[in-house]
Amino acid sequence: MALEASIDRRNHAQSATTNGAVVLPPASYRLRLNPSSEHKPDSYDDLHQLEFTPLLFSSLERYLPPTMLSMSRDVKFQYMRDILMKYSRDGERTREKDVLLWQVICATIQSAVSVQRHKEYRQRIISNYQPLHRELFTMHAPSVLVPAFVKAVRDNTEASFRSIMAEPIPGIYTFEMLQPRFCEMLLSEVENFERWVHDTRFRIMRPNTMNKFGAVLDDFGLETMLDKLMNDFIRPISKVFFPEVGGSTLDSHHGFVVEYGMDRDVELGFHVDDSEVTLNVCLGREFSGGELFFRGVRCDKHVNTETQSEEILDYSHVPGYAVLHRGRHRHGARATTSGSRVNLLVWCRSSVFRELKKYQKECSSWCAECQREKKERQCISIAATKQELLKRIGNTSS
Ligand SMILES: [Zn+2]
Repeated sequence: MALEASIDRRNHAQSATTNGAVVLPPASYRLRLNPSSEHKPDSYDDLHQLEFTPLLFSSLERYLPPTMLSMSRDVKFQYMRDILMKYSRDGERTREKDVLLWQVICATIQSAVSVQRHKEYRQRIISNYQPLHRELFTMHAPSVLVPAFVKAVRDNTEASFRSIMAEPIPGIYTFEMLQPRFCEMLLSEVENFERWVHDTRFRIMRPNTMNKFGAVLDDFGLETMLDKLMNDFIRPISKVFFPEVGGSTLDSHHGFVVEYGMDRDVELGFHVDDSEVTLNVCLGREFSGGELFFRGVRCDKHVNTETQSEEILDYSHVPGYAVLHRGRHRHGARATTSGSRVNLLVWCRSSVFRELKKYQKECSSWCAECQREKKERQCISIAATKQELLKRIGNTSS
């Protein structure tokens, strides 16, 4: 079969074909180790008789040599299939380049498989779960948000944001955001979902490793609505207040609710979020305790360093009110001592910020400890310069 051609035999391939067989590019083409982030891969979903999942081809396409990206889908498909066949056949891969390439392929396969599995998981929920309030699933701003918040974001200036917000310590913004009726509907929708999970014994994934209770809203149909909330309302604010952590390029989110109370999660340890910007809104209902405590923004390297006194903030939740902060702002939640408390969390992420961070060697402008170290280095260097200057003046005048 023509497709069985090994990579090495590609040297002899021509760049055109007369018999309908696809011609493969020369062997000098190599997969790249870093995927192209701008390239929009073709879809391979219609190719049914694949040994590999169609999604794998779309993912692997980003690793193709740049010159190949504009080639026809058939050429790219056969080239990739060829590589995959070769690597799934070969037992021994001793050459270093091959090992690296194999790692790239494995990682790509794993991520494609997990994306595919999650897609199927969501599909299973959405096709079986009957929502209680259909209107929750579209983002109708006046029903979701309080008028002052909508106006401030529409005006879209730092002054308009500040007019409705408090900033109790730098980088923490609190404001009234959600309509009471919306909070109530979302609470009952979550209850309805939990009931369905219980009755059908459907095994759901919890929002994160720290919360045993709560639900991922994106998994039962609210993804589009929350995406709109992020794009139209959270990003404009983040662009102004958190530009250095990708606030203006937020492009994906993880949306969920967490439930606290005596028969739920009680408290939440000290941590940072897997987000660039976090929106945390209290939905209700009756509770005492459960304060959020904040302890300064830190990068990965400095996440366990000491807190300065000016970084300490304790915040008490008010239903309908939001807290907006950087994901790297260290925080935790104290015990909810009575009643029950449900909060909506939207972890907003920026793929651009995450990509750039990989190449960043210097310290972070947004980490308080990095800044303190930088200042210390500057002080030492100024002191040294001063010393040197004094010595020179001393020498010339003697
Ligand atoms: Zn740092």
